Amino acid sequence: MNISKSKELFSKAQNFIPGGVNSPVRAFRAVGGEPLFIKRAEGAFLYDEDGNQFIELINSWGPMLLGHNHPKVKQAVIEAMEDGTSFGAPTAREVEIAELIVSMVPSIEKVRMVNSGTEATMSAIRVARGFTGRDKFIKMEGHYHGHGDSFLIAAGSGAMTMGDPDSPGVTKGTAKDTLIAPYNNLEAIEELVAANPGEIAALILEPVPGNMGLCLPKEGYLQGLRDICTREGIVLIFDEVMTGFRLAKGGAQEVFGVTPDMTTLGKIIGGGMPVGAYGGKREIMEFVSPAGPVYQAGTLSGNPIAMAAGLTMLNHLNTDPTVYDELTHIGSKLAEGIKKINQELGLNYTVNSFGSMYSLFFTDKPVYDFESAKSSDTALFGKYFQAMLKRGVYLAPSQFESLFLSTALKDELIDQILVAHKEAMVEIL
Ligand code: PLP
Repeated sequence: MNISKSKELFSKAQNFIPGGVNSPVRAFRAVGGEPLFIKRAEGAFLYDEDGNQFIELINSWGPMLLGHNHPKVKQAVIEAMEDGTSFGAPTAREVEIAELIVSMVPSIEKVRMVNSGTEATMSAIRVARGFTGRDKFIKMEGHYHGHGDSFLIAAGSGAMTMGDPDSPGVTKGTAKDTLIAPYNNLEAIEELVAANPGEIAALILEPVPGNMGLCLPKEGYLQGLRDICTREGIVLIFDEVMTGFRLAKGGAQEVFGVTPDMTTLGKIIGGGMPVGAYGGKREIMEFVSPAGPVYQAGTLSGNPIAMAAGLTMLNHLNTDPTVYDELTHIGSKLAEGIKKINQELGLNYTVNSFGSMYSLFFTDKPVYDFESAKSSDTALFGKYFQAMLKRGVYLAPSQFESLFLSTALKDELIDQILVAHKEAMVEIL
């Protein structure tokens, strides 16, 4: 594969951008080789600067649920641009998207738009602290909630991939208020609650975590958290930046029938533009300025172009009854196909999948939390990644990420991926 233009760009980029990229995992450090510079994308395909085509399974880390360059979203952006790119004042679209989110997400009675998932989670924690008058919060090992200081402790995603789950630069003072628990373990939460009586403002988690690779909640786990939080007056926050509008219209909370007090959103909500949101119970959200005293603001929050893209995306998901069945079909066809090939090859690697999220772990052990995810052979994953790339399939360049499938991934493309998978496994083992 000729990647000379990508190589040239990467070499130049390293002179001007730390590590040559604007988000660490993009540098391919965990999988070896050099990153590809992408020129354009259409449907299920990415095209790099050298003209190579790839079937891709990341979809911009989640937002492109309907595939790239969806005609409806593109048209909405073009139309919105005609009227100007930013006003810094309220617009009709913001009211419309807020009403739509409230109608789709069970826990949300009021919502505030921000520009990223990171902003959403940082703001939600501040509001929960303001609401309860408490300082500490619980976070799960290996979960990722963006790069806010208080979350970069035992963090998943890129932080885990780069070997920096506890980032330098986070002060001891900040870190002491983040209490860490293993996922899928209710006893650990009871212990933290008992050791910090009346001091815990919030418990935040990815209900179906994708940032240590995909893991699933054990039976009754999410309801157990709900019960503890209700009993202790702790604000339960579901970080549905990945799962929101992906696992169902109403996210994981709809699928599992457990309603948190607050929810954070990102990715799909912007239709590919930089958008995040946080919302929840009316009485909690009434604490947000200017309704209440907790300050949170943004020059570009509710940006008209971003809102146009997000609204079009959400309206599509809200009105097309086929999307989620289609995504489930795509996810299970891929996961079942991979499992079958692995069996034929005598491999017992763990495959976790749920709807349109999927991870293949290079370990025989079940993966359900941070420790078990770390048992995966990451060096072998790197070889697998390169072997798939060579065959025209672009995976997330890290073992500790979920793949995000889109409705553009038609059956014949999945068949091609399965052929590539078999060849790649034979090559690397
Ligand atoms: N929360 C979760 C669950 C995420 O997966 C991410 C990003 O991947 C974030 C928060 C941060 O979102 P952003 O990268 O938009 O700041």
